[in-house]
Amino acid sequence: MREVRTRYAPSPTGHLHIGGARTALFSYLWARKKGGSFVVRIEDTDVERNLADAEQKQLEALKWLGIDWDESVDVGGPHAPYRSMERLQIYQEHLQKLVAAGHAYPCYCSQEELEREREQQLAEGKAPKYSGRCRHLTPEERQAFEQAGRKPSIRFRVPDGRVITVQDEVRGEVRFETEGIGDFILQRPDGRPTYNFAVVVDDALMEITHVVRGEEHISNTPRQILLYEALGFEAPVFAHASLILNAEGKKMSKRDESIIQFIDQYRELGYLPEAIINFLVLLGWAPEGEKAEEEIFSRDELIQLFSLERVSKAPAVFDAAKLKWMNNHYIKESSTERITELAIPHLAEAGRIGEQPLGEEKEWVTRLVGLYQEQLDYVAQVVELTEMFFRKEVAYSDDAGEILSQEQVPIVVEALIRQLESTEEELTADTVKQLLKAVQKETGYKGKQLFMPVRAAVTGEVHGPDLRETISLLGKETVLARLESFLRRQA
Ligand code: GLU
Repeated sequence: MREVRTRYAPSPTGHLHIGGARTALFSYLWARKKGGSFVVRIEDTDVERNLADAEQKQLEALKWLGIDWDESVDVGGPHAPYRSMERLQIYQEHLQKLVAAGHAYPCYCSQEELEREREQQLAEGKAPKYSGRCRHLTPEERQAFEQAGRKPSIRFRVPDGRVITVQDEVRGEVRFETEGIGDFILQRPDGRPTYNFAVVVDDALMEITHVVRGEEHISNTPRQILLYEALGFEAPVFAHASLILNAEGKKMSKRDESIIQFIDQYRELGYLPEAIINFLVLLGWAPEGEKAEEEIFSRDELIQLFSLERVSKAPAVFDAAKLKWMNNHYIKESSTERITELAIPHLAEAGRIGEQPLGEEKEWVTRLVGLYQEQLDYVAQVVELTEMFFRKEVAYSDDAGEILSQEQVPIVVEALIRQLESTEEELTADTVKQLLKAVQKETGYKGKQLFMPVRAAVTGEVHGPDLRETISLLGKETVLARLESFLRRQA
């Protein structure tokens, strides 16, 4: 049996998008499951749309996700080069073969002529399609065009009256009549190949066995199958993954602002790569049998469980709340040190801490992040959640204000101030526990009557993480200042 070879073939026209990442992931998982090879090829022939940093950003984002490749522009491989624009000579050779065999011909129509033809067809209520005007030019007519300085594009001669059947792993049998397919362009007048031509030459020469990509490419597939035939190549297996819909059930567009679209944006916000992978794989795939109900999968499990047959043709809905839930799950499972490393740039950017906290400051930040780790849907939230640690004046919420109006509050607060002032010890969570016990003994207030006012006066909130650790992290000076300020405001 042939080695399984899959590929992800981004055009460097943008950064790695959720849809592209899912395609890459499915291709990658299939190759890894089968012990095959995964290729990343850069399809950069659409030169007007290429962005200077897109190739690098795509590769970086894939690497960050942990999707590694065996062959590509950076590591090379037996089928190099892996950038289309460096393969022009190869396309040229195959184009010549097609022309020589009569499968392709030069077309001298100008843009204006094609546009006029299109408008006329539309006016007649017909689906627009290239008429085939240049199919039957005589050598003399061609020469005349050449002499007039026209540069031809090269078109594929689509055979008449055939039905092309795509055996799609996901969609089953999909049929297309060649009647609806006009002779399409293989090479533009400037010598660059079109996507449909380059992709076939590349997939064939790179010995790709499974082409996994988004549903939007299904209508390109019959054209590609015709090219495989004409070039005498064996076609790969095709698998077209379903569309991704937004919460309103509409096809997700790159301009949709209701969804964060790019992998590097998720990375910046402090989503973890394993959460993104776990989330993406379930956009249109589910495991078989008893695993079907489960939602959390490690990469190794996915490599074991993944199969193209289980990719669904029903559209997948992008559920941002589910992604947050999953990310929270992985954040909770991570070490506090890891989450702290991710949190530091956010806290530093907000001016809360230095850019590279060391020693005691680092320790303090680690404890602070640890205090909120369970609550984080994504790491950037740490800035907002820890806000009250960095305020000079406490801002009391309405609920806190209500608690603080209870009559025992000044008694409790004064007692706590005395306890704090009289202790020499460093304020660890344990010492705080002792101090609060002493306050309880002294005032006779306990439970909610004791802890709620202390929390409200010190943090301005009625809910929050562990109170002792919070007080310990705030430190004696800050806590005293806040308690005293509360009393002053009362007076
Ligand atoms: N460069 C194409 C794209 O980005 C690849 C399509 C394919 O996988 O064949 O959509």
